Amino acid sequence: MSEGVGDMDNSIDTRLVHAGEIIPRIEGAVSMPIFQSANFESAGETDYNDVRYARLNNTPNHLVLHARLAALEGAEAALVAASGMAAISGALFGLLESGDHVLVSDGLYGGTHELVTRDFERYGIKYDMIDVADPGSWSGKLRPETRVVYVETMTNPLVKVGDLAAVASFAGENGLISMIDNTFASPVNFRPPEHGYDISLHSCTKYLNGHSDIVAGAIIGRADLVDTIRKRFNLTGGTLDPHACFLLLRGMKTLALRVRRQNTTALALARTLSEHPAVSRVHYPGLESHPGHEWATAMFDGFGGMLSIELTGGAREVDRFMERLRIPIVAPSLGGVETLITLPATTSHLGLSREERLAMGVTDTLIRISIGIEGEDDLIADFLQALE
Ligand SMILES: *Cc1c(COP(=O)(O)O)cnc(C)c1O
Repeated sequence: MSEGVGDMDNSIDTRLVHAGEIIPRIEGAVSMPIFQSANFESAGETDYNDVRYARLNNTPNHLVLHARLAALEGAEAALVAASGMAAISGALFGLLESGDHVLVSDGLYGGTHELVTRDFERYGIKYDMIDVADPGSWSGKLRPETRVVYVETMTNPLVKVGDLAAVASFAGENGLISMIDNTFASPVNFRPPEHGYDISLHSCTKYLNGHSDIVAGAIIGRADLVDTIRKRFNLTGGTLDPHACFLLLRGMKTLALRVRRQNTTALALARTLSEHPAVSRVHYPGLESHPGHEWATAMFDGFGGMLSIELTGGAREVDRFMERLRIPIVAPSLGGVETLITLPATTSHLGLSREERLAMGVTDTLIRISIGIEGEDDLIADFLQALE
C-alpha cells in the first residue's frame, strides 16, 4: 500500500483518488485491475481468516477498498459488504450477544427499523428508542446490559439531525459502542470517527458509488471492533464480489466533486421552493428554519443532497406535479448522479398505518428528492414549471 499520497495529511479529495493504492502499480496499471479469482495460491497461512479467498474479504480489490474507506473517515479499519443492509446487520450481529440491550434512534431507515423491531427479539436482543435531539432523555433508558447506541446522521425522509456529538460522548461516558449510519451525509460532509464514533456504516449503493449501478455497503471504524465483525461476517458470507469492488472504487474517485455539487444544488432548490406559494414546507438542514440547522452547521462540511417538500395541495396536485417534472426520475434509492423523487407515503412507509406515518411527520403530500448532478438552473426551472 502506498504511504504518502493518500494519507491523512492530504485532503479528502486526494484520499478519494489515491488512498490505499498498491505500489508499485500492478503491471503499471493506473486503474486498479479486477482480480476475478475466487481463491489464491496458499502462502502458508495459519489462521482461517487469513486464507486468501473472496468470501473472506481479502482479495486485492477488497484490501484496497478497505484502506481507502478507512482513510476517507480517518478511521483505523474498514470492511466492505454486499449491501448496506449486509453492513448494518453484519455490524450489529457481529458485536451484540443474546441478552444485550441497544439504544436506537427513532425514525430509523426502513430496513434497519424492521431488523431491530422484528428480528432482534429472535436473538434475545432488546432495544429502546431515543430522540437524538433530546440528550437529557437518554440516560433514563440505560440498562446494565446496554452495549450499543445506534443513530443515523440524517433521518429518512425528513432529514432530521440530532445532537450527534453528544451521542458519541454519551457512549464514551457509559462504556457503550457508538454506531452511526452515515449514508445520507457521505464522508465528504461528515466523518463520524472525528467526532468520537466507534463504527460508521454506509450503504455504498448511494453516494459512495454514486452511479445507481451496484449495491454495496461498508463498515468503518475501530480496528478491534472491525476485526471482531469481520471474523463473524466471514461466516455469514455477505461479501462484495470483486467486480462490484472495482466499480465501487471507481465510483468513489469522484465523490467529493459529486457531493459538493449536490450540496450546492440542494441548497439552491430548497431556498427557491421555500418561497414558493405551492410549497407548504421544505425539510433541509441547510435552511435556517430546520430544527437541526445549528447542529448541522457545527458538524457538517455541507448539508447534503437530500431534501423533502410538502405541497399545499392534496394528492391530485402531488400526482400532477410528479407527472409534470421532466428531469427527475420517480424511483427509490438515492445518492446517484440522477435526480430522483419518491412519495414516501406510497413507497418506503407503505408498511405503516396512516396514523403511524402521520405521527412520524410523513404526510400524504411529502415528496423526497435526491439531488443529482444535473445543471442547477435546469433543475430549478423544471421544479418551477411543474409547480405552476
Ligand atoms: C439505502 C440505505 C440503507 C440500505 O442500503 P442497501 O445498500 O439498500 O442495503 C441503509 N441505510 C440508509 C440510510 C440507506 O439510505
